Parts: sequence; C-alpha cells; structure tokens
Amino acid sequence: MLRFCSLYSGSSGNSFLVQSSKATILVDVGVSAKKIETAFADLELDINSISAILVTHEHSDHVKGVGTLSKKYNIPVYTNRKTWLAMPSEIEKVNEENRHYIEIGNKFNIEDLEIIPFPIPHDAACPCGYNILNSGKKISIATDIGHVSKDIMPYFENSSFVLLEANYDPEILRYSPYPRHLKYRIDSPTGHLSNASCSKVVSHLVDSGLNSVMLGHLSKENNFPELAYQTVLNEINSTHDNMNIDISVASRDFPSKFIDIK
Ligand SMILES: [Zn+2]
Ligand SMILES: [Zn+2]
Repeated sequence: MLRFCSLYSGSSGNSFLVQSSKATILVDVGVSAKKIETAFADLELDINSISAILVTHEHSDHVKGVGTLSKKYNIPVYTNRKTWLAMPSEIEKVNEENRHYIEIGNKFNIEDLEIIPFPIPHDAACPCGYNILNSGKKISIATDIGHVSKDIMPYFENSSFVLLEANYDPEILRYSPYPRHLKYRIDSPTGHLSNASCSKVVSHLVDSGLNSVMLGHLSKENNFPELAYQTVLNEINSTHDNMNIDISVASRDFPSKFIDIK
C-alpha cells in the first residue's frame, strides 16, 4: 500500500502525507501543529502514528510547525545540514535524538519506504524535493522550483505520481500589485514554477509512466485552481492522443482526497 494526501498546500503553508503499510511520513510542516492535528482528525488518522517529518527547505511556509509537532509527538525530523542551520528557531525545539542529517542524492530508509532527496533550484540554503519509493512504485514531491533543468528531470521520470508546483500564471503576475522585486523573485530561475512550466514537465512525464499528478503550492494572488488545471490539461492534450491521466489541484485550506499509487 502506498498513498498520498496533500494536507495543505499554497504560499500560505505546505504539508503532504505519504503512507505505506508501515510508515506515515509528512513532507514539510508549513502550518501550525494545530492545523496538522485538525487534518489528522478529519482524515481519521492517528497523529501518534507519524514516523517522520522530511523538510524540503527552511522557508516558513514549509517549517512553521516542524519544531512544535516534533516536540509534542516525539517525531524524528530529516533534512540536510545547511537547512538545519538555516532554521534555528525550529532546531532548538526538536530533541537532539530526533535530529537526522541527510545528504542530497543519498538514499535512506524509513520503515518500508526508500527516500531520495534531490536538488531543486530555489532561493534557500539547500532546498530539495523527495522521491519516495515502495514496492517498485515511485512518488515525487517538489514545490518551490525556479525551473526544471535537464539535470533534475531524471528524478521525476518513472514516477507513478507527482506532486508538482504550479505557482503562478505569468500574465496575472505581471498585472498583480506585487512590488517589482517580488515579481522578479517569483519569476526568476530560483523562484517558483509557473503553470506553463509545470505543464511542460507533466506532459514529458506522461511518457515515462505518470498516471496521476497533483498541482500544488498555488499562489493565492497570482493563480486560480481552474487555470492551473486547464493549463496542464491543455498541454497534455496538445501533445498526446487519448491520455487518461488523473489531474487534481491541492487546496490551501483542507486535505485532498487520498491518491492510491498504482
Ligand atoms: Zn520557498
Ligand atoms: Zn514555499
């Protein structure tokens, strides 16, 4: 059994859940511990069953509740050394025995899950995405990606399911009231991924076995769920005939449906 659920996703906070028959892990806790408790209650899951928290990078929309949740439920936290050092207010809340240091590119295991952290271009200390594998099935989770280069595409290939950022629509961003430096940051190669760039990646992955994608980390101001969805669907339809792929959009406010990874 391998399944995925987005608890919350958007510029306001991100947390994703991956569950196998032996492990329940969270990727990022960018919302309060209270909101994680609410999501677990809604999903009728035991919050004491969390095996680990994986952290992608130190921005507050990814780590806001990491320290409090780890401390309250005694949960091990995994990230690389540079990211640990870049989140001092979280590290001090995590008990020393729960601080795990990983290296980008190096595989590790949590129960029956094999995990590979891979590099992503984003303006943080040492940001990463995660491949999570179980019984020959592969999930990839990556948000906060300035661009998807040829180097990182192989990490996404051969995934059954991908949670991929579709942060903004360039036209909406251009006319948004954001200050110029912020628009530049979002649009830069180390900022965020646009709907159009996301759609190109998804369309490529369809050829390597992708059968389900969830779009995440949508900007509240510079995107709409329907627009992100339609952009990806249009790109797939324009490059493939009769593709049957499940596309969903993660909500910022409540948990998604469970995606069973086949
Ligand atoms: Zn970020
Ligand atoms: Zn973010």
